[in-house]
Amino acid sequence: MRLRNISGSREIVAENEYVVHEPEKQKGNWKALFGNDNPIHVEIGMGKGKFLMQLASMNPDINYIGIEKYSSVLLRAIEKRNETQLTNLYFIRFDAEYLTDIFDRDEISRIYLNFSDPWPKDRHAKRRLTSKEFLKKYDQCLKIDGEVIFKTDNRLLFDFSLEQAELAGWSLKEVTYDLHHSEYLEGNVMTEYEEKFVAKGNPIQRLIAYRNQ
Ligand code: SAM
Repeated sequence: MRLRNISGSREIVAENEYVVHEPEKQKGNWKALFGNDNPIHVEIGMGKGKFLMQLASMNPDINYIGIEKYSSVLLRAIEKRNETQLTNLYFIRFDAEYLTDIFDRDEISRIYLNFSDPWPKDRHAKRRLTSKEFLKKYDQCLKIDGEVIFKTDNRLLFDFSLEQAELAGWSLKEVTYDLHHSEYLEGNVMTEYEEKFVAKGNPIQRLIAYRNQ
């Protein structure tokens, strides 16, 4: 998702109190930002942030961080975030390519990847957020029992992700090719993209990947 460049969005993002502006400085120290020891769950490519805002209000004992590459998109999340009283949700405008610059070993308990960009050309495979290159980065930030939860409606990207997880030595559980007609639907929180695809009747695929301990 890349919205039309919205004039002033960079400045608004730069001044917002819920956006962490120099995330590298928080590396190893995210607990201090939240002021508690609660687990940290991160969504990479959060778009307009509906999913994370809903989770943060449902689960006050979990700390949430949303990462989004573009200010024009993050701006939409900030507008909604400003209307809430949440104390367990921060945003970062950042490219997840450099994730290990901002999170230390064992800092994250869960990573959500929702409807990540497919990068359909083979030569761009490394940019897919479920490539083995990205899984290596997640491995360096996740707790030993941490997990990556990935949803998509793109079957090719899903099959690629299953392969990459196995290649990278991760295990898989609760894999489904049609989440909305599966035993795993209960408790599912829909993202903006998910709502659109479900309305069109597209099946949603979902996997949970974790490291062998
Ligand atoms: N997760 C949302 C949803 O399901 O409604 C948005 C999905 S949208 C297709 C993908 C989002 O990921 C876009 O907003 C895009 O800017 C962001 N994104 C893509 N690559 C990224 C990266 N390397 N780091 C941070 N955000 C990224």
